[in-house]
Amino acid sequence: MSTKILPKQETTPQTSHGDGDHERFAHYADKHKITESMVTGTPIRALCGKIWVPSRDPKKYPVCPECKEIYEGLPVGGGGDQGGDKQ
Ligand SMILES: [Zn+2]
Repeated sequence: MSTKILPKQETTPQTSHGDGDHERFAHYADKHKITESMVTGTPIRALCGKIWVPSRDPKKYPVCPECKEIYEGLPVGGGGDQGGDKQ
């Protein structure tokens, strides 16, 4: 006799097979945000789009392959040769 109430207020993104996968990787994110998150404990968005709380000891975890790919694909200091639209 219980009525199921969906917790609509909770909008935690979770993949079906993700049992905390993102918690086991060290993601790339804005350095300032990581620092802030470590202080406040607020989850932030990594480059790959995962919302996670940075670990204090990222060296314990393997680097997230998605983040790494995105990170390496980013134009560093505007000197990247991506875009192909040189002026
Ligand atoms: Zn990632």
